[in-house]
Amino acid sequence: MLIHCTAGANTEEAQYEATIGWFQRERPGNESSAHVVIDRQRNVNISVPYGLIAYHAAAKGPNGESGGYYNRTRLAIEFCKRAPIGEGQYTDEQYAVGAEIIAEMADIYGFPINRETIKGHSEVQSDRLDPGPLFRWDYFMSLLA
Ligand SMILES: [Zn+2]
Repeated sequence: MLIHCTAGANTEEAQYEATIGWFQRERPGNESSAHVVIDRQRNVNISVPYGLIAYHAAAKGPNGESGGYYNRTRLAIEFCKRAPIGEGQYTDEQYAVGAEIIAEMADIYGFPINRETIKGHSEVQSDRLDPGPLFRWDYFMSLLA
């Protein structure tokens, strides 16, 4: 799993719709998408079916595997947030539904739930900051315990 967030679109509703639209847009060279988009209430959109590759991280793998390694090996969840990285909290609803989805994915794909299998984008790609310092990892992982 890789955790991402959006930042800085107009209204919360517009942002959710715009993110889904962007991820599902058919175009050559579509280079950003995530499997699941979660808004700040509890709405969830499966933008890319779990069995397909989403383009959510350009980083090389931990052992120097070629760029896009995490696209090939990780499912992606995008939490919608209006505030820039480092500002504005995620909602309890987002954490709750995110945890439910990860539990479901872990069930389907048989991966263990821990901080090795569930990482933030910034933890694998040095030029990215999401989900940012306000993402409450301890709380989130406690929901998955
Ligand atoms: Zn990201």
